[in-house]
Amino acid sequence: MAKQTLSLWINGQHVQSSGARLADVTNPARGEVIRQVPLANRADVDKAVAAAKAAFPAWRDTPPLRRSRILNKFRDLLETHRAELAQLASEEHGKTLEDAAGSVQRGIEVVEFAVGAPHLLKGEHAENVGRGVDCHSMLQPIGVCTGITPFNFPAMVPMWMFPIAIACGNTFILKPSEKVPSCSLRMGELLKEAGLPDGVFNVVPGDKEAVDALLVHPDVRAVSFVGSTPIAKYIYETAAHHGKRVQALGGAKNHAVVMPDAPLEFTADAIMGAAYGSAGERCMAISTVVAVGAVADALVARLKEKAEKLVVGPGDRKGVDMGPVISAQHRDKIVGYIDSGVAQGARLVTDGRGIKVDGHEHGYFVGPTLFDNVDTGMTIYREEIFGPVLIVLRVASLDEAIALVNSNPYANGTAIFTASGAAARRFQNEIEVGMVGINVPIPVPMAFFSFGGWKASLFGDLHMHGMEGVYFYTRTKAITSRWPEVAEKNVSTLVMPTL
Ligand code: NAD
Repeated sequence: MAKQTLSLWINGQHVQSSGARLADVTNPARGEVIRQVPLANRADVDKAVAAAKAAFPAWRDTPPLRRSRILNKFRDLLETHRAELAQLASEEHGKTLEDAAGSVQRGIEVVEFAVGAPHLLKGEHAENVGRGVDCHSMLQPIGVCTGITPFNFPAMVPMWMFPIAIACGNTFILKPSEKVPSCSLRMGELLKEAGLPDGVFNVVPGDKEAVDALLVHPDVRAVSFVGSTPIAKYIYETAAHHGKRVQALGGAKNHAVVMPDAPLEFTADAIMGAAYGSAGERCMAISTVVAVGAVADALVARLKEKAEKLVVGPGDRKGVDMGPVISAQHRDKIVGYIDSGVAQGARLVTDGRGIKVDGHEHGYFVGPTLFDNVDTGMTIYREEIFGPVLIVLRVASLDEAIALVNSNPYANGTAIFTASGAAARRFQNEIEVGMVGINVPIPVPMAFFSFGGWKASLFGDLHMHGMEGVYFYTRTKAITSRWPEVAEKNVSTLVMPTL
């Protein structure tokens, strides 16, 4: 049977690419190509930018309350189509349906935040900053914005970006991961159904060619990126070089520090979900446990027992805890990391290599894998694996744990498990990481806070969503005003005005 070929979404309609390059979209649980997606070329990007640029003036001048009503309608449509979006995300990414639905929900929450645009866009005002002089500030949209997103959250990560960009009066071009394009295209249709004017939101599936065209395009004003660290750095440098505002979120190596007084069962359960949920393909996954003092043996025993009970299978099968990883190439890379851990002397406690799933023999599965006695020189510690591989390092004290986490180049998320308020408080103060959990394994901030790491996990200044998202997608203008009847008595000299 001929495979479905997807399209681009430009100016409120599906359009074909002017080029001929296509990429396969696979179902990783079956290891099968399910559809193809066009890879946008420079001409396609030019067309999308032209549509977004043309739509900008009217959208910028649309009152925030009206923009907000359209987003509210979009929110309702997301609710109605939540299962469909979750199904698309699960089919193309591999994660379980329940996990996919949860991530759609987190995206919906960003839309709910963005619906507050009339309030969020209020500036400041001060009367009589000088005699007869008032000052106020305005938050104005910046123009055509673009978002470049990774494969691991097909609906949620795009929604970290475009709802706020659009609510602030910008127009948007989304370049989703070519591995998981369907949710983004479907959201384009839903935005149109919600009443969004054509051209305000566009989708150009593609690869490096489309990304590079966006990064250098003179009419693109801001670039939001989420993906791996080397590409985030490249995006930051290239887009900044071309005069754009950039926020580029990169990879991660998230540590959970487990203190000797941590409640063991609770902690082990929390780490299970954080390490193996979504097959470890989350930027906030806990991939590294730092066991402090005497807790290590008992913790590793609990983690082993629980990891070996996890059910691996296709994401749409009831009772499955963990789906496949995204591709055969990625599976082989993860297996290579496990091989290297063994070769470099870590203790392999649970081995997920070579797992077979009945009826899905061609799927890209790796079982839950657990290493103990890992040290910081090993490749499995130094690199982001982005798979279901959890490693345990042992240290003697909280001091040592903090020093270890702080010396890692990544700094996206971290967590401490403890019953001690004093230890937790010290940890939150001294740890050099952007998002911190205290007995919370995946401390993803809610939509009304901002999401972002530090160090090699973020290039740029402002994090995503929450107020930092609003500031990223707006420019502040400060207006100082004086009216003539007051001014006449007060005309300034060449001297700097003071009060
Ligand atoms: P990736 O960096 O390979 O791709 C991300 C995006 O960049 C995709 O749209 C892709 O098409 C594009 N891209 C890839 N190579 C490119 C190149 N050479 N030039 C220009 N564009 C290019 O990331 P991925 O494999 O899709 O996603 C996994 C990575 O994303 C992991 O490292 C994970 O930690 C990270 N991630 C980070 C966060 C965060 O919030 N910090 C969230 C989710 C995922």
